[in-house]
Amino acid sequence: MTFPPTRTAALERLSKFVPKSGRDYAAKRNFDLGPGRHDHVSTLSPYLRHRLITEREVVEAVLGRYSLSSAEKFVQEVYWRTYWKGWLELRPSIWMDYRTDVKAGLNRLQTESGLRAEFDAACAGETDIECFNFWAQELVNTGYLHNHARMWFASIWVFTLRLPWALGADFFLRHLLDGDPASNTLSWRWIAGMQTKGKTYLARPSNIAKFTDGRFQPSGRELASDAPALDSPDNPPVGEPPYSDHWTANLPTALLISEDDMSPGFMLDRGLKPQATASFSAASDRSPLVVSPRVTEFTEAALDDCTARYGDRLGNITKSPEDLLAWVRDTGAEQVVTAYAPTGPAQERLDTLERQLKDHNIPLIRILRDEDSAAWPYATHGFFKFKEKIPKLVGELKGLRAAS
Ligand SMILES: Cc1cc2nc3c(=O)[nH]c(=O)nc-3n(C[C@H](O)[C@H](O)[C@H](O)COP(=O)(O)OP(=O)(O)OC[C@H]3O[C@@H](n4cnc5c(N)ncnc54)[C@H](O)[C@@H]3O)c2cc1C
Repeated sequence: MTFPPTRTAALERLSKFVPKSGRDYAAKRNFDLGPGRHDHVSTLSPYLRHRLITEREVVEAVLGRYSLSSAEKFVQEVYWRTYWKGWLELRPSIWMDYRTDVKAGLNRLQTESGLRAEFDAACAGETDIECFNFWAQELVNTGYLHNHARMWFASIWVFTLRLPWALGADFFLRHLLDGDPASNTLSWRWIAGMQTKGKTYLARPSNIAKFTDGRFQPSGRELASDAPALDSPDNPPVGEPPYSDHWTANLPTALLISEDDMSPGFMLDRGLKPQATASFSAASDRSPLVVSPRVTEFTEAALDDCTARYGDRLGNITKSPEDLLAWVRDTGAEQVVTAYAPTGPAQERLDTLERQLKDHNIPLIRILRDEDSAAWPYATHGFFKFKEKIPKLVGELKGLRAAS
């Protein structure tokens, strides 16, 4: 299996990658040499996305070997993830707008048979564009694509094939093991010129030939030669960042582990003692269409790995209760604690549960990690402004560790 769904696999991958995370990464990270040869990047994204391993652990491991200036590029890439998460937390309506756009796209497929045929060909990797077909199939068969391939693929989807952008983002979310509401939606918007107004990304034949090491050599006629930004409303105003709740000591407590944070140790180490724990995955809600079993099975198995690792600290463990409210009621808990789930399907399920729990006077307590509280409020403008805060944020990580 390319991505074993365990923390052990994530840690092994990290320790193998750390020696390459310095100047090597900066020089070679843009080369996509194909499946089985993604050696210049970490391939940690399925693990980071579910926090089977955390951003903080990865940054600290890299900075245990290199200075921040030597590993600057890699650390910045990890902070792109943090930035996108924070950006969406400050403007969650963008996620709802995206969901509406996916539904509108699917409706068009019902009535426009030409579009339906082109969409089906794109998803099956049966267009006239060889590289695009290859990436569509690599994604479906492995659950992963190199960052550069994601950029080329999305650009060709939008500007050459002229398919609805949201359906492309949905295709990614159905198949990527690291499928993430923030990184995926906002990256597609960025390619299409909706994120940074007017700035688009054009996939160029020479760039593809160079960075695939000649594996693909599309001709100039095959790909669009310009990338006019898609129309979109202005970005919504920046909202308030989320804050962390606090649990009450000595109350009977149930813990919920969602797919968004499979490292509950940060709460257990602060004295949380659940009498019962349930894990749940909302991976099947990432799309209105069927999400690839590769994705749902990865997420389920990773949750099992998590509960097995923490075992005796979690109390009675239940896997994926069909009815979360009934499960909470059965535990007799007077408070339910969970790691904060950012904007996306897991948060939507928790919001529903919170409303139901209110009728029973049971609070749902969402615990935000200190590093997210520190970073997300800076995601107000573009990444270049956010990037200036990275040395400070990294310094605080070390401080946070000293304090914990
Ligand atoms: C159209 C498009 C869609 C994308 N969808 C997703 C997605 O659903 N989920 C996802 O995790 N990433 C997404 N990305 C970002 C990026 O492509 C992947 O995070 C990266 O390719 C993962 O491979 P890696 O772990 O080998 O990355 P590395 O280069 O080894 O980077 C280390 C980690 O940093 C983070 N990271 C790196 N580059 C980015 C980036 N540009 N944006 C955000 N985080 C980054 C990831 O967590 C990654 O695991 C998308 C990018 C594009 C262009």
